[in-house]
Amino acid sequence: MAKLVNPKPDRPRPRGKVPLTGLQLTCCVAVVGMAVYFISGLFRHTDSTTETALAAETALTALEVAAAATTSAQSAAEAALANLSEIKVVVQRNDTMDAIFRRLQFSLADLAQILAIDNKDARRMLTLLKPGDELTLASRDGQLVQLHRLIGDDKRLKIERDEDAGFVASVEDLPVDRYVTVATGMIQPHTSSLYAAATAAGLQDVTTDRLTDIFRWDIDFMLDPREGDTFRVVYEKRVRDGRLIRDGNILAAEYVMKDGRTFRAVRYEFPDGKADYYTPEGKSLRKAFLKTPVQFSRISSVFNPRRRHPVLNTIRAHRGVDYAAPTGTKVYAAGAGRVQFRGVKGGFGNLVEIAHAGKVVTRYGHLSRFAPGLKVGQRVEQGELIGYVGSTGLATGPHLHFEFIENGQYVDPQKAIRRGEPGPPIPDGQRGAFEAQVAPLLAQLDAAALPQGPALAAR
Ligand SMILES: [Zn+2]
Repeated sequence: MAKLVNPKPDRPRPRGKVPLTGLQLTCCVAVVGMAVYFISGLFRHTDSTTETALAAETALTALEVAAAATTSAQSAAEAALANLSEIKVVVQRNDTMDAIFRRLQFSLADLAQILAIDNKDARRMLTLLKPGDELTLASRDGQLVQLHRLIGDDKRLKIERDEDAGFVASVEDLPVDRYVTVATGMIQPHTSSLYAAATAAGLQDVTTDRLTDIFRWDIDFMLDPREGDTFRVVYEKRVRDGRLIRDGNILAAEYVMKDGRTFRAVRYEFPDGKADYYTPEGKSLRKAFLKTPVQFSRISSVFNPRRRHPVLNTIRAHRGVDYAAPTGTKVYAAGAGRVQFRGVKGGFGNLVEIAHAGKVVTRYGHLSRFAPGLKVGQRVEQGELIGYVGSTGLATGPHLHFEFIENGQYVDPQKAIRRGEPGPPIPDGQRGAFEAQVAPLLAQLDAAALPQGPALAAR
């Protein structure tokens, strides 16, 4: 089970977050009650005809009423200070600002001013509404005073009435707390699914993606995970107003295969803010070549100098490895190098060729399309997107045909990749800082108890 430890707030708690006293709470409840009364009053004492008023009242969605009634004690307290009524609007399908303003009977002249505000980004954020987006509108005596809209997880667009300029827009950062937490899990029988085990351990898929990314030089996550494999992950959770907004970085991770092979990684942040993953000893996890240029694929045909060609039905050398994966699956440069061919070449269909150091060339065939902007002569980093799996050229189904050519000779890519050279280790000058940074992370990793399961007991 994941548990929260080491609360690490990004910044001091805002003063508004001090606990409310009983008396204050009573006041807040009264204010919320008044706000609800005020909103319903808005529709009763309106200048328009009774029919439109009734129609408008029905149009006020249940969600909006509920949101207004349950406005948190804190914002109710803030609103009370400024004598404002707050309405939270959850954007519905096909909703527009115009529809929302009409529904709440706010001035359309105000809306016109807001949508003409001298800030392109603000205008864009107000016109691109998606169902589920939340807007908060604050009014005084039926007149709109403030409009808030969340941007992503940690920013808020604020439109405020200004006596001189009509309305002004600003974007403010919302306080986000970071917690370091630990999750552990074990791959269960029958599923052999890392994602299922990770979800059960409380990891978001984005964090599991990162975990597979960190270990992709050593572990083929399509083939290798087996029942009984275990993992431990020390990672950040980002929390706003006590609510998880998303997982943050993985700080340390361990993957242990049932046969005992153990892989560990720690994140080291350099003084300039760049970060990378290393072994606990400070060696790079990067190998000269990725274990597979396509994640989550399976090998459908191995390197074989004498193979019957599936399309031509003749004996022809299979000078590469085929990785079967759905059309559109991302294909990555197996190593850093320079693009020396990008185009159509006979039976390869769409082909990319990359020249690497040490007279090595890798080839990627049958691509459905190339990475946008990929050009001959371009430098690519290891793991950089170069194209997408397809079945162009002579192919029976979507797969990547991957070749490894060393000194002009075709070699078995699987063997060649295993003897590759690793990336650079932690520089000597960073040793002390590295050890100071990763020691507590490793201690946390070691302290995390693995789930007990039948597979572990049988070990
Ligand atoms: Zn092939």
